[in-house]
Amino acid sequence: MSSAAVKVLYRLKDEGYTGYLAGGGVRDLLLNRNPKDFDVATDATPEQIRKIFKNCRLIGRRFRLAHILFRGEIIETSTFRAPVPEDPEDTLHCENTMRVGETGMVMRDNIFGTPEEDAMRRDFTINALFYNIADFSVIDYAGGLQDLEDKIIRVIGDPDKRFAEDPVRMIRAARFAGTLGFEIEKKALDSICRNNNLLADAAPSRMYEEVQKLFFCGHAKGVFQWLEKTDLLHPMFHDFSHWIDEDKKRHDWVIQTLEQMDRWRQAGLRVHPALLFALIFGEYHEYLIQQLIEGGQSPHDAARIAVQGHLKGMCENVRVPKTVIYQVCDIMDHQRRFERTQGRRPQRFIQSRGFLDAFLYFKFSAKAHDRNIELLEFWTDLRKKTPQKIVSKKGRGTRKKATKPDLPIE
Ligand code: ATP
Ligand code: MG
Repeated sequence: MSSAAVKVLYRLKDEGYTGYLAGGGVRDLLLNRNPKDFDVATDATPEQIRKIFKNCRLIGRRFRLAHILFRGEIIETSTFRAPVPEDPEDTLHCENTMRVGETGMVMRDNIFGTPEEDAMRRDFTINALFYNIADFSVIDYAGGLQDLEDKIIRVIGDPDKRFAEDPVRMIRAARFAGTLGFEIEKKALDSICRNNNLLADAAPSRMYEEVQKLFFCGHAKGVFQWLEKTDLLHPMFHDFSHWIDEDKKRHDWVIQTLEQMDRWRQAGLRVHPALLFALIFGEYHEYLIQQLIEGGQSPHDAARIAVQGHLKGMCENVRVPKTVIYQVCDIMDHQRRFERTQGRRPQRFIQSRGFLDAFLYFKFSAKAHDRNIELLEFWTDLRKKTPQKIVSKKGRGTRKKATKPDLPIE
């Protein structure tokens, strides 16, 4: 367990508070997996937490919580939360603390509760376990230990209601099922299939975060299959998913790309978001670009129109940052430059900023489709022979840098 989390837990205990390790940290430790992060739940209020920890900052509007900062690690520490009221009317008198929207979505909540209440308002039973460092026990209010044993993702409470409160939970269910190799219990599965249109109400910035987690969790292929099974794929990526449905080969390409993502992730290699989106949607973008060129657009304009049009409207409410969209445009637009192997152009291209990502895409698609093999050899060869020159920002000359190894493609 992270030494930072242990410090936080002991410190809270020594100050007379209850402090539990909570959420995915407990789940993953019990499953013998490496937790991504460690969260702590406590009966100390945010202000009390701030007094105890100097290295702490309070964040959050909807619910205030503390980030306790350690070197290279943040321990998110939140005060036990109270349940969402049954009846939206009940929240009218406490406007500043909690509000439930017309669809049942929780807009703002800041009232504190007991450990049991806190556990019961978490999303799934396996995410509602606490570890108490005071007596080294696991506290299980929701039946999560049994579900861990049975490998089941079970919603706490009524799935229809819990998904209406926060539609992102549906995507989380698919992610946990795919990542952990668990089943989603029938009632929740039926509920997701019935309610997937609610995703349109989710906050766009959260959706963007979730989409990245889906594809870069190291089990993207399994997660994708759950997105298909739950029919979340259509509301999330409508045009793209319909395009996949038209041809089995397209589906196979996407799976092949996700397998590559998983191999990189499992080898501890990182792919930045633009490259991630370029690779996953690459075949679809190439298809759109081709159609636009046939309709009379220049190749340069076609790349921009196709990529921007798709990523901006991918799902009305996934907010892909503009810089990421532009980078994906560049990757696709640069593909034409690989065909030009004469004169000084290759040298100029290979020294340019966008080359590496474009080359990785080119290499991946060449290998995946068994095409452009001679061109790939040409560029691989040239790359080996050319040490990269990086132009300094202020334009004061250049410095030479050894060529970095590429992400391996199998
Ligand atoms: P991982 O970090 O591996 O993606 P996690 O379960 O730790 O998985 P976090 O997003 O870190 O997920 O959230 C920590 C905990 O907060 C969860 O385990 C869960 O108990 C609770 N939680 C997170 N998101 C929600 C949500 N949308 N609704 C209810 N509870 C949630
Ligand atoms: Mg976590």
